[in-house]
Amino acid sequence: MKSMECIPVSKWDIGCQKKLLIAGPCSAESPEQLLTTAKELKNSGAHVLRAGIWKPRTRPGFFEGVGEKGLKWLKDAGNEAGMSVATEVAKPQHVELCLKNDIDVLWIGARTTVDPFAVSAIAEPLKGVDIPVMVKNPVNPDIDLWLGALERVSNAGIKKIAAIHRGFSTYRKSSYRNPPLWRIPVELRRRVSSLPIICDPSHLAGACELIQTVAQTAIDLLFDGLMIEVHPNPTAALSDRNQQLTPAQYLTLMNSLVWKNTRSSNMEFNQRLTAFRNEIDQIDYKIIDLLALRLNIVEQIATLKNKNDITTLQPNRFRELLRKRLDYGNGQHLSENFVRQIIELIHEEALMHQERCEIQDLNSTCIS
Ligand code: PEP
Ligand code: MN
Repeated sequence: MKSMECIPVSKWDIGCQKKLLIAGPCSAESPEQLLTTAKELKNSGAHVLRAGIWKPRTRPGFFEGVGEKGLKWLKDAGNEAGMSVATEVAKPQHVELCLKNDIDVLWIGARTTVDPFAVSAIAEPLKGVDIPVMVKNPVNPDIDLWLGALERVSNAGIKKIAAIHRGFSTYRKSSYRNPPLWRIPVELRRRVSSLPIICDPSHLAGACELIQTVAQTAIDLLFDGLMIEVHPNPTAALSDRNQQLTPAQYLTLMNSLVWKNTRSSNMEFNQRLTAFRNEIDQIDYKIIDLLALRLNIVEQIATLKNKNDITTLQPNRFRELLRKRLDYGNGQHLSENFVRQIIELIHEEALMHQERCEIQDLNSTCIS
């Protein structure tokens, strides 16, 4: 696979704050709805007016978008407010219609990014066109699938590319509609440092009251912009009612966000930060040493079990161990979810290690 490092991405010209702010309704519903939203957003600092024209619904029977006629409504509303306009494309015909209607920015939705055939088909009519394209993360937490879609768009010759992080489906219960799994966009940033990454707190949170925290976290993690759903009357919205802000709420949100500096020239601050970081470094090495020590004991257990024909997995022991670790973590004010994930990961590694030892034991090399 071609490395993403080769992708010719350039930071967009994204205004004085150097953050791209996209706002607008989940779905285009009527010319009036778009016009009202655009007019109200005009002085909010948002650069791009968003609206879904074709809506990918998880289940049939729900509002599937107004279709082609909405493109003109969107463009007219954008012109009225002096904003660029953006919409989602899921098929090559959508791209063609958007180009015909002078839509400024396109995005590929989370349900489309999962399908390399669909992304390749969308990339075809993009060949030779100079238009910004944003790619939402796939619904499942697979960074390579996300990179693959970005590469397909890039291979079509698109130069202005951005990724949009909108959270991931998980089987775990969560207060978010799509939990953030921040490590994935952070890893994307590490792999392709020049790629702008925008956060979509609306689809991630799924509820208005969580949007502020998610947006501030995204800013603190150096995201390059925000895409937020704004509707003039969210309770009557035809899609995603619970997560759309009114234009007034959007303005309050924007005023509440703190755009922090990445560096400081204050000597004392820098010295204290370095001291803390040194402590963190030492703790990390200790954690790694302890994990190695733990695995060493696991190897000895493996040999003991093998000699006595005892199975690797001991469900009762693990259940009891997990319960005690969760209790202990709770006493240390660590979240249950965090401790559970770490212990499950350590246990899985221990099981795999024991299995490897068993194979080596057969060759009498695991432990003499
Ligand atoms: C949307 O932006 O309205 C949308 C459908 O988003 P996602 O693809 O993230 O679900
Ligand atoms: Mn939506």
